[in-house]
Amino acid sequence: MNDILLLKPGEVFLKGLNKRYFEEKLMNNLRRRLKHVGHFQVSCRQSTFYVEPTDEKAELDAALRAARQVFGFATVTRAAACEKDADAIARLAIDYLRDTMQSVKTFKVETKRSDKRFPMTSIALSQYVGGRLAEAYPNARAQMHDPELTVHLEVRELAAYVHAAPVPGAGGMPVGSNGSAVTLLSGGIDSPVSSYLIAKRGVRLVPVHFFSFPYTSELAKQKVIDLAKLLEPYTGRMTLQIVPFTHIQEEIRRCCPEAYFTLIMRRFMMRIAADIAAHNDCKAIVTGENLGQVASQTMEAMASTQAVLDQLPVLQPLVGMDKTDIIALARKIGTFETSILPYEDCCTVFTPRHPKTHPTVAEVAEAEAVMDIDGLVQEAVAGIERIRIGYEC
Ligand code: ATP
Ligand code: MG
Repeated sequence: MNDILLLKPGEVFLKGLNKRYFEEKLMNNLRRRLKHVGHFQVSCRQSTFYVEPTDEKAELDAALRAARQVFGFATVTRAAACEKDADAIARLAIDYLRDTMQSVKTFKVETKRSDKRFPMTSIALSQYVGGRLAEAYPNARAQMHDPELTVHLEVRELAAYVHAAPVPGAGGMPVGSNGSAVTLLSGGIDSPVSSYLIAKRGVRLVPVHFFSFPYTSELAKQKVIDLAKLLEPYTGRMTLQIVPFTHIQEEIRRCCPEAYFTLIMRRFMMRIAADIAAHNDCKAIVTGENLGQVASQTMEAMASTQAVLDQLPVLQPLVGMDKTDIIALARKIGTFETSILPYEDCCTVFTPRHPKTHPTVAEVAEAEAVMDIDGLVQEAVAGIERIRIGYEC
C-alpha cells in the first residue's frame, strides 16, 4: 500500500468567486511538476489535493520535494497508508507518529471518512485510535481543545491514511493566475531572485537575456540558461529569449558620451523588453534592481531608464532589500552557486569610468538622440534566439 501526499492551498485566494479557477491552475501546475518526478495521480477534494503514486517505483520523497516548489500551496503532508481496519490504523498511528507522540503532552485525533462503507463513524474511529495512542504513550493525554498535536486519519477508497504535522509549502499564488511578465535575467545574483519572487505572486515569466558576444562569452550565456533551468521548478516552463546586444553596445560607444553609456544601454534594454512584452501578452517588466546598489540604480537613473516605457510598469521586488537578504534567498532557491560563477555580463562591457548617477531624463535622451534607435531595436528583436526551458516532458 502506497503512502501519499496531501497538499493544502493558501486560504486567501480560495475564498473568492474564482475558487474553481485557482484550483484548476494548482492542479495543472502540480501535475506538470510531478511529471518530471514519476507516475502520480493528482486529485482534489474539498480543497485538499492528493498525490498518489501509480506505480511501485514512484518516489514519494522526491514528489514531496517537488511539490514544495509549486507556488500556491501553504502546506504539504506525507501520509502513511494501511488497510482499512481500525486495529491496523491504530497500529500504524502508534508506529508512524512515535517521535512526535513521545514529545507532546496533549493530542487529539480527527478523522475524515470519504469511504462511507467503512463500518465505524468518524467519531468512533477517532475515539478508538485516540484511546490506543494514549495507552501507548502515557506522556500524552487526549485534549479536544487546543492540543499540541492533531493526528489526522483519512479513510479513502483504496486505503486508510495517518498523518501529523504538515511542512510548509512554497506559498504564494499559482503561476499563471496573475498574468505574464517579461523578466530581465542577467547572470548575476539578483535577477534570478527577483524572477522567483514575481513568479511566486502567480506570474508566468518570459525571461530575457541581453548577450554581447564576443565581449561576453558562450559560457556566460550557458550560465543564464542554467539559471533559467534552476528557476523552472518554481516558474514552470519558460522560453528564454537571448537578445543579440553587441551592435547596440558598439553603437553606444561610438556615438554617445561615455558617462551615459550604462544609462543608454539600459534604456535600450527596456525598449526591447517592451517589444517582447507586446508580442507575448506580458503586462510588466521585472528587474533585479536594488536602490543605491550601483550607479545605474539611483532614483534618477531608474527614472531615466523607465522613461522610455509608456504602458508597462517595472516591477522591482528587490528594490528595498539588503544584499545579505537577497543572497540568503538566492541560496534558499538554489541559484546562488551558479550566479557567482565568474563570467562577465554585458553591463560590465564598456563601463564608464565616471558614470552619471543623477541624470535628468532630458539629458540622457539628448545624449542618445544621434543614434538610429528604432532601427537598432528592430535589428536586435529580429535576431532573438529562443531557448525552451522545461519542455522535455
Ligand atoms: P544582477 O545581479 O541581477 O545582475 P546587478 O546588481 O548586477 O543585478 P545591474 O547589472 O545594474 O545590477 O542590472 C540590474 C538589472 O538589470 C538586473 O537585475 C537584471 O534584471 C537586468 N540586467 C542586467 N544585465 C542584464 C542582461 N545582460 N540581460 C538581461 N537583464 C539584465
Ligand atoms: Mg548584473
